[in-house]
Amino acid sequence: MAFRYGSGMNDAWKALLETDSEIAELIVAEERRERDKIRLIPSENYVSHAVLAATGSILTNKYSEGYPGRRYYEGQQLIDPIEEMATSRARELFGAEHANVQPYSGTPCNLAVYLAFLQPGDTVMGIELSHGGHLSHGHNVSATGIWFRPVRYGVSRETGLIDFDEARDVAKKERPKLIWAGGTALPRTIDFEAFAEIAKEVDAIFAADIAHIAGLIAGGAHPSPIPFADVVTTTTHKTLRGPRGAMFMSKSEHANKMDRAVFPGLQGGPHNHTTAGIAVALKEASQPEFKDYAKQTVANAKVLAEELMARGFDLVSGGTDNHLILIDLEGKGVTGKPAAKALDRAGIELNFNTVPFDPRKPADPSGIRIGTPAVTSRGMREPEMKKIAEWMDRVVAAPENEDSIAATAAEIAEFCRAFPPPGISVAD
Ligand SMILES: *Cc1c(COP(=O)(O)O)cnc(C)c1O
Repeated sequence: MAFRYGSGMNDAWKALLETDSEIAELIVAEERRERDKIRLIPSENYVSHAVLAATGSILTNKYSEGYPGRRYYEGQQLIDPIEEMATSRARELFGAEHANVQPYSGTPCNLAVYLAFLQPGDTVMGIELSHGGHLSHGHNVSATGIWFRPVRYGVSRETGLIDFDEARDVAKKERPKLIWAGGTALPRTIDFEAFAEIAKEVDAIFAADIAHIAGLIAGGAHPSPIPFADVVTTTTHKTLRGPRGAMFMSKSEHANKMDRAVFPGLQGGPHNHTTAGIAVALKEASQPEFKDYAKQTVANAKVLAEELMARGFDLVSGGTDNHLILIDLEGKGVTGKPAAKALDRAGIELNFNTVPFDPRKPADPSGIRIGTPAVTSRGMREPEMKKIAEWMDRVVAAPENEDSIAATAAEIAEFCRAFPPPGISVAD
């Protein structure tokens, strides 16, 4: 085999190589790719070896339909404490009354909110997709927009900030039963209290989807929706730096309804290996180092934003308060998709993205979206953000200059060696 795997290959890896070397080699190649590139996708991160070990464990063997103490299968002596540890850590970390870590991922977790509180055809209000919303907040290609009646609010054309006057007007006129806050491309602090007030005025359930910012909230780098929201949903694999999965937290009064919506409403057996990985990630997120990571993620994003603006990049809302930056490339004479592809060839991984009021289609929109959680997890700080801005500027200025792109990719691979990411074991 043409690679060394960490400090010594363990039994699991030896077995994988013997059983299926094709998959093993692809995984190791992906590991190298994740190590040698600058990962600016704001919804991605690097989990620790500890999270990987729990997630890759024999807990995948066990069926556990139900909840701790109320299961439909025997043999839960060790699964119950694992799930209870995960939920009690979630409650403690976020100060929530109730938590449930069984949802398979962010979208199914959000579906549970609909099942708990809405009937088909009821009205749901969320932020417009092209203004930074998520498909599961009532977009027309999602079940949530097909089975329910979506209405939308957006950001102001002038400021790029959420327009609360518009949101209130839409809510009063359309009377949604459910109001979502949160999204996938919102670079500014979310005022959860303002949403809660609107929801109260129209007697709607208020759900805060903190998938992107859960780690910042846990680390004290973004205000929490817990005091204001009926339900808080989140993925566990973005800034929170856990395994792929999701959880919700709620007020006690909604606990039963929401639990029943997840199981038996939408799911069968929980993924116990993921539950254990979430428990480990929540323990990590309660340590002092995690606060440093959350603060540094924001500090890095602010420096990266300033450095990009100094080079003539047009940032939606003029900057960032969190881990995320949304860039309108119109003034740079290139559209999002070719820019994203050129940057990827150069070793900077990000995604093309619509910007608010985008005249272009989502398949090749005007913008790109970046974020700093993953680079912060591997120890990059302000000086490294300056270099990243320089490289981005170089590539965006000449997205078809393959010689320059290849030279940048080599520089970046070398640069990345000084910042080994958590959880990466490949040694050559
Ligand atoms: C990522 C994300 C989701 C969905 O997560 P999946 O696990 O991909 O289904 C939902 N809401 C928001 C705001 C997100 O950013």
